[in-house]
Amino acid sequence: MIIAIDGPAGSGKSTVAKRVARELGFAYLDTGAMYRAVAWRALTERLDLSDPLCEASVARIREIARTEPIDFGFIQGEPLPSQVFINGEDVTRQIRSPEADKAVSPVSADAGVREALTEQQRKFGWEHDTVMEGRDIGTVVFPDADFKVFLTASAEERSHRRARQNAEKEGRTQATAEELAAVFADIVRRDAYDSSRKVAPLAPAPDSWELDTTDMTIEEATAAIVKRAQALTIASPKAPLT
Ligand code: C5P
Repeated sequence: MIIAIDGPAGSGKSTVAKRVARELGFAYLDTGAMYRAVAWRALTERLDLSDPLCEASVARIREIARTEPIDFGFIQGEPLPSQVFINGEDVTRQIRSPEADKAVSPVSADAGVREALTEQQRKFGWEHDTVMEGRDIGTVVFPDADFKVFLTASAEERSHRRARQNAEKEGRTQATAEELAAVFADIVRRDAYDSSRKVAPLAPAPDSWELDTTDMTIEEATAAIVKRAQALTIASPKAPLT
């Protein structure tokens, strides 16, 4: 069974998707982390990330996406993966840097990169009951997903959440006004970019369930999705394998 959770940056996708996966005992795949890992490798090779990408950079980025394995690692005792590796290198922290935030948009807009990563995502989904989160899971990667959720929230609320998350990683409880403004600008830029690109733009699948989490807690959003997913499994059990 595939549960697709798509939505814009900061909509709470990652936190909610992880919790849904844990409650249902499903695997979890963060497809954004895969695009970020490829973007990080492009940065380390100092490829030209102007938009559109120059020809030599396109060829190299596609090669990286096709040939360098992306793996997820588990911290002992935790049920869901929290580490990201590309070509054996731990890039968990680097892929969340402001540089990676910027580089990921042009990299993820490339059709060849998307083709390579989509193939890996499908393979993962065929092998596991999965909660898969991203931008195009319900529209492109698994258009036949059993359950599609499109998570949204206002840009202001999403910026507050993301800025608070970043501050908490540094042991603070609140972000500064400057940090909040920078996060807001990044979110608005990425929303516009992800929604307007030619290949696999961010958009709700016509048959997705849109859930606006602006005034919801993480717990409420998780509970709502789990409840619907369970109702679906009960209503349409899969034919037993013979
Ligand atoms: O989910 P996250 O914000 O980490 O994703 C980072 C970027 O990766 C997005 O802004 C988007 O450009 C790209 N992405 C994508 N398709 C996906 C997942 C992420 O294009 N399925």
